[in-house]
Amino acid sequence: MEVVKTLVSLRRWRATTHRSVGLVPTMGFLHEGHLALVRKARAENDLVAVSIFVNPRQFGPDEDLARYPRDTEHDLALLRAESVDLVFIPTVDEMYPPGFSTSVDVGSLGERLEGLSRPGHFKGVATVVARLLNLTRPQRAYFGQKDAQQVIVVRRMVKDLALTVQIDAVPTVREPDGLALSSRNIFLSIEERQAASVLSRALFRAQESFEWGERDAQRIRQIVRDMLDLELLVRTDYVSVADAVTLDELEQIDRPALLSLAAWVGQTRLIDNLPLEA
Ligand code: AMP
Repeated sequence: MEVVKTLVSLRRWRATTHRSVGLVPTMGFLHEGHLALVRKARAENDLVAVSIFVNPRQFGPDEDLARYPRDTEHDLALLRAESVDLVFIPTVDEMYPPGFSTSVDVGSLGERLEGLSRPGHFKGVATVVARLLNLTRPQRAYFGQKDAQQVIVVRRMVKDLALTVQIDAVPTVREPDGLALSSRNIFLSIEERQAASVLSRALFRAQESFEWGERDAQRIRQIVRDMLDLELLVRTDYVSVADAVTLDELEQIDRPALLSLAAWVGQTRLIDNLPLEA
């Protein structure tokens, strides 16, 4: 496994091969969710490249950039065990050299849901992903359904900029009690960790109600809100039932929809989602 830190060495690695490359962009502190992406990439490509970069441009000024968890040595050991070919770990200066001023803006898709609570977040995401795709020129790039809006935004960008990569979404990996794996789960106290399981329980309960025939989006949102409200350690940011393509909020669920939420558990903001599809 090759570990490179500069754009030049990443480009050089890419230039030496004509074989297919799968890219898995991450912010590190890897867990089984990330590894699910890596394994899919491993199965579908000749070579697998993983990037580890805590991208400052996707964090707001009051967000957790400074305390975002990092453990590069452990990440590298996990990736080595998955037979990854290349790991790209750039510094912030390497990714954004002095004078850097272009950004990729996906418009209203990036201003809903997470974008409302985190202005500029998806501009940061789209910009760094565009850069990673251009540097690595993979045939396929892998993203987690856990960050469903990110998948939608990246797919939109790839279409709009006529990039040739295929974007692959991988199902959310969960703990036994349903909590979606996230690098941020490390911040939860024992009590908060227990309380956090309500996020997925609420989503699954609402999905079940949809499967039993409920099509009123407001009633679905209310099922989730009511369950979250019962947990004293949980503060709801948003609960959304939106068109799975445009992310427009729905009144009636008459097309493929995304049920998603963001909530604070103590000082930690977590997101989760499930599809609503007949
Ligand atoms: P992050 O390091 O949080 O930026 O995540 C890197 C990639 O891993 C993103 O595409 C995430 O959607 C994906 N990912 C994170 N957590 C999970 C999970 N629990 N299941 C599946 N994919 C995940």
